[in-house]
Amino acid sequence: MILMGPFQRRICSDFLKGCSQPRRRGAPGPEEQFSGSTRLSREKLPSALQQWQIPNGLLVFFLPPGKKVLIVYAHQEPKSFNGSLLKIAVEELTKQGCSVTVSDLYAMQFEPRATRNDIDGSLHNSEAFNYGVETWEAYKRGALSKDLVEEQKKVQEADLLIFQFPLFWFNMPAILKVWMDRVLVQGFAYDLSKAYDGGLLQDKLSLFSFTTGGSKEKYAIRGDIRYLLWPMQHGIMHFCGVKVLEPHICYAPENVSEEKRKEMLTAWTQRLRTLWKEEPIDCSPEWYFK
Ligand code: FAD
Ligand code: ZN
Repeated sequence: MILMGPFQRRICSDFLKGCSQPRRRGAPGPEEQFSGSTRLSREKLPSALQQWQIPNGLLVFFLPPGKKVLIVYAHQEPKSFNGSLLKIAVEELTKQGCSVTVSDLYAMQFEPRATRNDIDGSLHNSEAFNYGVETWEAYKRGALSKDLVEEQKKVQEADLLIFQFPLFWFNMPAILKVWMDRVLVQGFAYDLSKAYDGGLLQDKLSLFSFTTGGSKEKYAIRGDIRYLLWPMQHGIMHFCGVKVLEPHICYAPENVSEEKRKEMLTAWTQRLRTLWKEEPIDCSPEWYFK
């Protein structure tokens, strides 16, 4: 049995870890490490591996070039329900052969203010500071601060952006909102003549995955939760040209039974298994305005 490339450098699966390391002089390459190995059983192979039988009778497994996923995560506590949802997404998508990057905003101590410090060097107009104009100009001349450039690179490379967070005041937590404010600057994510279907981040998908304090029943009585999604899905993602997948909502994880929590986690794993077959949704349907 032979395992062949192309290997994804950032795949975290233990199985593939050896393959993504630079090869030491004289050390066996991936093919030699795994060639003829009796340690490999079919069950242990990542699900995304594809299999060919080649004429000399050897079974060849190869990992198709995976999708790139950026998960922007906003929760302070890894042991939280959001932390568990994040862990599941990383594990499941990695298993599928995706390359997964996480921006863990609290752990990174992501700067929560949009200020003049986001621009290196002198300003376009030092008389009166305008954040939108200055970041646009700084983007054009390559003078945005390093942390923003790093996040923009992650966005640029991603096929799918997942936002994982607890609902705060019918909205995303401030640290995630400021990520949107600071990272999705004019020139990078949109231009006034290039917005919505013409936005600059086309060919990308997004998915808002969040938890609530209120139960599904209460939201059904007090107002359709989908209204909260309009600014996020339509006002931000669609504006930048990013397509939107159905949101994933876990209602009231604090107030349900352990069994129900496990069910919600399993449902997330199951959804992720068929995610790449999903079609984007219309994020601005008529009923919003009725
Ligand atoms: P946690 O409290 O971390 O988790 C819930 C339970 O799941 C815990 O007992 C945890 O131990 C357990 N758990 C974790 N992992 C697992 C696992 N793998 N298996 C089984 N159990 C597990 N809610 C609204 O509905 N609307 C609002 O507008 C709103 N505004 C808010 C504003 C603020 C400022 C704050 C602080 C909260 C607000 N909330 C609101 C509530 C908030 O949305 C919820 O508290 C949050 O979504 C719960 O998610 P969590 O990840 O923090 O849950
Ligand atoms: Zn829209």
